[in-house]
Amino acid sequence: MARYTGPVCRICRREGQKLFLKGERCLGPKCGIERRRYAPGQHGQARGRKPSEFGLQLREKQKCRRTYGVLERQFRKHFTVASRMPGVTGENLLRVLELRLDNLVYRLGLADSRPQARQIVRHGHIMVNGRKTNIPSFIAKVGDVITVRPQSRDREYFQARAQIVGSRIIPDWLILDAPTLTGRVVSVPRRDQIDTRLSEQLIVEYYSR
Ligand code: SF4
Repeated sequence: MARYTGPVCRICRREGQKLFLKGERCLGPKCGIERRRYAPGQHGQARGRKPSEFGLQLREKQKCRRTYGVLERQFRKHFTVASRMPGVTGENLLRVLELRLDNLVYRLGLADSRPQARQIVRHGHIMVNGRKTNIPSFIAKVGDVITVRPQSRDREYFQARAQIVGSRIIPDWLILDAPTLTGRVVSVPRRDQIDTRLSEQLIVEYYSR
């Protein structure tokens, strides 16, 4: 399963906004974008031209893909699924992305960032409805129960999580039982419940060219 392994802060600098890919570090003075507020690369500080319509659509698609840590092919698959669902395609795409297992682990507060959540899933620490699931792109449904495997709960990391996770704010469409590190999807998220700063319409236009 492929994933991006290059410099992470560079992605935020390219997109011109914080994508919160490094957990705690993103909130402190060491955040890469706080220190260098310009695009990466040799011409990063040059005065850019006004982006074309296509350029805007492309950047929005890339920003969304990178926020959720999804590579191009998988992202396209998610878009295809979203376009076949009833309702607004752009909103459906965000719903599909939000219901990915790695995102749910992050939203439930079991990880500080989506890349960390992805690693937790890949390492087999998560169960969905009582079955070990180590596929980050697994799409959950309403009613699915996400929990840490009993064998993993004794680990120092998860014991520390159990102490702090109760104080985290989790979205209204999820519920969490902090002591047992168990979460449940109670509904499909509405657009106003997804705090990701994106213009999903531009992504739809990008794929509709
Ligand atoms: Fe982005 Fe976090 Fe790096 Fe800041 S510290 S640039 S928010 S990944």
